[in-house]
Amino acid sequence: MGVVIALANQKGGVGKTTTAINLGAGLAKKKKKVLLIDLDAQGNATSGLGVRKSTIKEDIYDVLVNETPVEDVILHTETEGLDLLPATIQLSGAEIELTSQMAREKRLADAILPVVDDYDYTLIDCPPSLGLLTINAFTTCDSILIPVQSEYYALEGLSQLMNTVHLVQKHFNPNLYIEGVLLTMFDSRTNLGNQVVTEVKKYFKDKVYSTIIPRNVRLSEAPSHGMSIIDYDPNSKGAWKYMNLTKEVLAAHGE
Ligand code: ADP
Ligand code: MG
Repeated sequence: MGVVIALANQKGGVGKTTTAINLGAGLAKKKKKVLLIDLDAQGNATSGLGVRKSTIKEDIYDVLVNETPVEDVILHTETEGLDLLPATIQLSGAEIELTSQMAREKRLADAILPVVDDYDYTLIDCPPSLGLLTINAFTTCDSILIPVQSEYYALEGLSQLMNTVHLVQKHFNPNLYIEGVLLTMFDSRTNLGNQVVTEVKKYFKDKVYSTIIPRNVRLSEAPSHGMSIIDYDPNSKGAWKYMNLTKEVLAAHGE
């Protein structure tokens, strides 16, 4: 059975997309078949994997709103073993259009059913909100990976996120669980970073990954080349850390 993990945190700029791309590429490197679902109208996961938006005919919006079969929309990427369900700005209309539709919280779950077992891992890159798209991700997934930026107010908003998780558990997905909490953009030169790590560990305990992603300029450069860090600069610290995260995720699933 394929494992489905949503990357979520309603704060923007915490490393959701960076983690989706690089964990996806890491799992593919470990010979897993991976599907990355871009569920953000910004389409950063789509462009970050080198897919030009102008070449996309149908995207995740069509899957959710027009019931286009996912098989018609999924693309292969340059990374062997990593497929993409792309998003474009069109997706920004989806929340409002879905509001009046039947089973609006389950659209994504129903849509990916035919392909989910073709993949070992499906990663869902969530938008920076707790709206209907994120609810769809939580209804679809087995678990949630929460990237947390090692900054002031790191924990801000996380109780709202947990409330949403509890609501989805109650109404749609009783077995939903927290896959792990990933500290990102860690700066070892400041005390603040270490304080944040302590605080996040106090709140999430053993759910926090031992791998901490440092601030690494190569990680921020890779998307503009349309590549994961593992393809762009496999010897960088960022690549090495994301491979460590990949191993932790695989181990958590008995691999
Ligand atoms: P989100 O998807 O949560 O909005 P992103 O993954 O897009 O966050 O990251 C926000 C910005 O920070 C992007 O420009 C990304 O390239 C950059 N970034 C992410 N992680 C790192 C890191 N570890 N080091 C340096 N820059 C990073
Ligand atoms: Mg993003």
